[in-house]
Amino acid sequence: MDFQKLAELYQELEKTSSGNKMREILSIFLKKVPEEDIAVISYLTLGQIASEYEGVVLGIAEKSALKAVAKASGIDEAKVKKTMQETGDAGLTAEKLLQKKPQTLVPMGKLTVKELFEKLHKITRTTGAGSQEEKINILVNLLQKSSPKGAKYIIRIALGTLRMGAGDMTVLDALAIAYTGDKKNKEQLERAYNICPDVGIIAETLAKKGLKGIEKIDVHVGRPIKMMLAQRVDSLEKVHEKIPGKLAVEAKYDGERMQVHKTKDGITIFSRRMENITEQYPDVLKYLQEHVSGKDYVIEGEIVAIDKDGKPLHFQILMQRKRKTDIEEYVKKVPVQLKLFDLLYYNGKSFLHESYEKRTEQLAKIVTKGKHITLADRVVTDDLGQVDQFFQKMLKEKQEGIMIKAMNSEYQAGTRGWNWIKWKKEYATEMTDTFDLVIVGAFYGKGKRSGTYGALLCACYNDHNDTFETITKLGTGLTDEILAELPKKLQKYQVGHKPARVVVSEIKPEVWFEPTVVVEVLAAEITKSPSHALGLALRFPRFMKLRDDKKAEQATTSKEIQQMYRKSGK
Ligand code: ATP
Repeated sequence: MDFQKLAELYQELEKTSSGNKMREILSIFLKKVPEEDIAVISYLTLGQIASEYEGVVLGIAEKSALKAVAKASGIDEAKVKKTMQETGDAGLTAEKLLQKKPQTLVPMGKLTVKELFEKLHKITRTTGAGSQEEKINILVNLLQKSSPKGAKYIIRIALGTLRMGAGDMTVLDALAIAYTGDKKNKEQLERAYNICPDVGIIAETLAKKGLKGIEKIDVHVGRPIKMMLAQRVDSLEKVHEKIPGKLAVEAKYDGERMQVHKTKDGITIFSRRMENITEQYPDVLKYLQEHVSGKDYVIEGEIVAIDKDGKPLHFQILMQRKRKTDIEEYVKKVPVQLKLFDLLYYNGKSFLHESYEKRTEQLAKIVTKGKHITLADRVVTDDLGQVDQFFQKMLKEKQEGIMIKAMNSEYQAGTRGWNWIKWKKEYATEMTDTFDLVIVGAFYGKGKRSGTYGALLCACYNDHNDTFETITKLGTGLTDEILAELPKKLQKYQVGHKPARVVVSEIKPEVWFEPTVVVEVLAAEITKSPSHALGLALRFPRFMKLRDDKKAEQATTSKEIQQMYRKSGK
């Protein structure tokens, strides 16, 4: 497919501020895409050139992109910089200046989507001496082959700032409509996506083999599986309503979740966001090699920081391990322990449809316990008194609480169902809880906060509609440090209009952001409110921390908040 057609789609998408309209435009377009281009177009529309878990980085800095614009247009760099200052966007700069390029240089509209994709990948493989120059030259070639409009989007893709407003779920919706004629079939696509969170693979399978092909998508070791999540209850007594009979009660550790994949080529560790975090944990890699047997496997656990006696330390201490430099130094400074609690695949066989009991039995067989790697502490009981005893014991040991799991349940990838229930100290004392919300807008600060934001507009995720519904304005609890960090962090996601998937009511922000950054917010109560899109608002919201380990679509859902509101008896 000609890239010009895709650029025209992007222009249309950019203009729409309605999620439904965006899906409609996208699905009409996807219907016309040839099979061989569908995966590539799915990635590109999300501003990516591969699935997120592959961690492919283009590594083009704004400075280099502007150099490429200068070279491609034959306009000197100083003038390009000036246009950049005027437009504030490298994409617009490219569009504007390339309109002036000499027509003799222009084989217009000759760039295909496939070539663009291949060349962008070539950029990622270009390393070593002189690589910066070579990357710029590849980009120059792409810019010269495209129209000015196309150049705008090429630059944005290269810089990672193409913000079409679409997320993975939006593309799945559009694919369902385009290829099956029925939006309802998205559920089937989503089920496949939960065990294969790669929009490109889903798109291509659907285009080539239809829903029959989608049904056959299975675990592939080395490709992350979306993690199973837990529901919450407001009293321990309610657990039996949800899980009758025997309960497996595990410690809920306050660390980072890991999904470990072993193939014949080695071990890969994925985070909750499905990012490859193997390099951050060379020590864990060693423990896994020494203590877990099996030709290939997928196992899960929580990594916690420990002191010299093996006692757990706070999550914030573990966060020091989130780094790209001085890794070995921090392996020594912040020792860790991996508490394993699940097995999803073992020696050529998927365990997703096996019961929790069978999965953990198999896990116990392949792990030899050590100081740095062990199984999660647990009791199995049907007596809630014993559950509470275990909970109290865990609190004394400074754990976050407990996870109560149904013995006979499958591993429900990507699902927050009632087969896992979390019970934390906060729930036991009073019904306050934290919410993980997405920043969708901000208000400029005044007085002490001038130069940064005075408050943030936050939203929960409506996973049914694939929208972000505002629920609170957040100003309290933002420390000077966070206030200084926020503009830098959010700038990348700033857009000039309401992002299509964001839904607001009376309260509208002064600045909009593409929903990306997640924050943890503590609130005293949920109340009815016409000010926010959900129709509910948080009372006395307080910023707790940034949740960099979560993607926007992993925020607390509208449904969860509505359930909490109903339970509070209002
Ligand atoms: P929270 O903020 O309460 O951790 P969450 O939205 O991050 O919530 P939940 O599914 O609600 O995730 O809680 C499960 C999380 O608890 C897991 O993602 C994992 O990181 C952590 N965890 C700690 N111990 C366990 C355990 N034994 N079994 C499963 N998850 C555990």
